[in-house]
Amino acid sequence: MTINVNRIAEQGLALNDTIDLDSTHLLEDESFFVEGLNYQIFFKRENQRIQAQGKIKTTISLVCVRCLEQFELKINSRFDIILFPKELVNVRSTSLDEEELEYIFFENDQIDLEKILIEQVNLFIPFKPVCNPDCKGICPGCGANLNRSACPCEESKNEIKFLFEKVKR
Ligand SMILES: [Zn+2]
Ligand SMILES: [Zn+2]
Repeated sequence: MTINVNRIAEQGLALNDTIDLDSTHLLEDESFFVEGLNYQIFFKRENQRIQAQGKIKTTISLVCVRCLEQFELKINSRFDIILFPKELVNVRSTSLDEEELEYIFFENDQIDLEKILIEQVNLFIPFKPVCNPDCKGICPGCGANLNRSACPCEESKNEIKFLFEKVKR
């Protein structure tokens, strides 16, 4: 899905749509799109660069790092990025600082819209996602999901503690 920069008029170009994106582009393991992605984007020329401001809205399914269960994460975020023509970046590559390298490039007057949207989704996904901030995770002993019930290991641990306390007394 590419946008030719020549479509961007003096007053800018506004686009919005709901599209299905390929889940294989998601960086997080075992994650997938639960629904289509709705986007609104506004492109504006700034000399040779292009400013892209927009909003994305979708839902993805992720695996919680603590309890290892799938959960859904609603994504609703805004972005404001600068796109550089790749040709321009090559010429002045030596003077690019690290921050500038993060800017998304476009090539041969073509903007890869899908790439921009996917990148925004990936940026939204937290490092080590959890289903709930209070997720208790799984028991290292028996593998039970501690969000659902206490496991036998917990009980026997308490029993041992109880006996120990008794001995001390
Ligand atoms: Zn969890
Ligand atoms: Zn257990």
